[in-house]
Amino acid sequence: MKPKYIFVTGGVISSLGKGLAAASLGALLEARGLNVGLQKLDPYLNVDPGTMSPFQHGEVFVTDDGAETDLDLGHYERFTHTRLTRHSNYTSGKIYDKVIAKERRGDYLGGTVQVIPHITNEIKSSIRHWAGNIDVAIVEIGGTVGDIESQPFLEAIRQFRYDIGPKNVLYIHLTLVPYIKTAGELKTKPTQHSVKELRQIGIQPDIILCRADRELSKEIKDKISLFCNTDSDAVFTARDVDSIYECPLALHEEGVDDKVVSLLNIWTGAPRLEPWHEIVRKIKAPAGKVTIGVVGKYIALTESYKSLNEALTHGGIANDVEVKLEYIDAEEIEGLNDEVLLEQFGNIDGFLIPGGFGTRGVEGKIVAAGFARRKKIPLFGICLGMQLMVVEFARNQAGLSDANSSEFAAVTENPVFGLLKEWKSADGKQTFTQDESSDKGGTMRLGANPCCLTKGSFAWRAYAEKSEISERHRHRYEFNNDYRETLEEHGLKITGTHRHHDLVEIIEIDDHPWYLGCQFHPEFTSKPMRPHPLFVAFIAAAKKSQSL
Ligand code: GLN
Repeated sequence: MKPKYIFVTGGVISSLGKGLAAASLGALLEARGLNVGLQKLDPYLNVDPGTMSPFQHGEVFVTDDGAETDLDLGHYERFTHTRLTRHSNYTSGKIYDKVIAKERRGDYLGGTVQVIPHITNEIKSSIRHWAGNIDVAIVEIGGTVGDIESQPFLEAIRQFRYDIGPKNVLYIHLTLVPYIKTAGELKTKPTQHSVKELRQIGIQPDIILCRADRELSKEIKDKISLFCNTDSDAVFTARDVDSIYECPLALHEEGVDDKVVSLLNIWTGAPRLEPWHEIVRKIKAPAGKVTIGVVGKYIALTESYKSLNEALTHGGIANDVEVKLEYIDAEEIEGLNDEVLLEQFGNIDGFLIPGGFGTRGVEGKIVAAGFARRKKIPLFGICLGMQLMVVEFARNQAGLSDANSSEFAAVTENPVFGLLKEWKSADGKQTFTQDESSDKGGTMRLGANPCCLTKGSFAWRAYAEKSEISERHRHRYEFNNDYRETLEEHGLKITGTHRHHDLVEIIEIDDHPWYLGCQFHPEFTSKPMRPHPLFVAFIAAAKKSQSL
């Protein structure tokens, strides 16, 4: 019977790393030769996280098909070979949206539309439709057990076991077992309460993963087992690890994947974990170190740059160096001159200006872009970063002193970036228009687009001399082609353009160790075992600049 389902819930507190646990389990099952898929169900009411501030919700992860999703999906793609789609992430908002649309169409034939069974049925069909014919479908339920808003999801997954039989469904619950210093003891009470909460709604966890800062003793596991009605050999420690890429190995050492396949009645050989050991070895004993200055606005919250941080780590693995990140608050460097910057940032081997929205910090990022350009320090600009590299170039190299993006200056004589008023698909059909009054949700250029590269460029070399690539986008503003000629005359190189449209995707300059801005988000597709070529090339350039 295919697929088998594993539902992962979380208790006690949020941020326990449920997404990482689900992704690690996916990696372990893949290493056993199974075809695995991962899905996230989020209880909040936004239709997708696209409109949420990164301060609220961390990074928005974009899939190839242009869905704006939860950042846990980034872990799923980094840890496994699954390619995620818009069906990989459902929120309550998206589920209700579907049900209400059906109700308005009259699909329910005069019935009273209710949470049970209509919402729960919609949840179940969204899971089954997505899972298709894979071997194992791992479904993570966002939030914490006990939240009012997650109840329909929990009810739906409870029903699942009755729908398709107990051997095909497994419930894993992730909890916290805190160590209380004054008592000198690990405490199991929060876990007991959270499992009680689950059992009250009819879900009996088959496996309990306990986050703890130390190993759980046999006695503690027995105690949890007794109170939670779960076998003692199905209570595992999910201990803290130094690098997230150790998680699959740590769970395997505990025997989690063995237990999962035996409970689900799946026969596989032992997992092949050599690639994971190799990655961890490289992370733990790098030959050198580079320091990258990330000039951003959400610097206090590294969750906002999740994929970016990981991609930089991957670039480091490929170059056998540790990548040390120095977060630079863009607002604090506004107005500083090169001498002061040199003094402050003399230790930085490369600058990275990430994506972002809104005016805050923009001028500081422009300062950083100019500094790195003039001082010939490797510079990598992503999305907004690329846009501001162009603004800086236009202002200081092409003499357009008031150049800006119309996102930040409604009135400027020189909008080098602006809104694309209309968007046509490859066959010439208009697919959407946008202007200042457009809705904020889902109206950006989103998802994978093909891009042609210019021979000989930094990009072309990084991508192993490929002439065409595909990368994911998430932005509203575009390079204004009216300025193309002027900027090119002054030395800006346009080295990547959209395959079908007149859209600029990559810019560079010559006579610089590495200066590249891209309109897309390469960080979304980087994996530890397949680091993204632009991050590999950027870190290589930063490493090389140390020896100069
Ligand atoms: N704010 C810019 C735009 O919408 C850049 C977006 C981004 O960096 N993702 O075009």
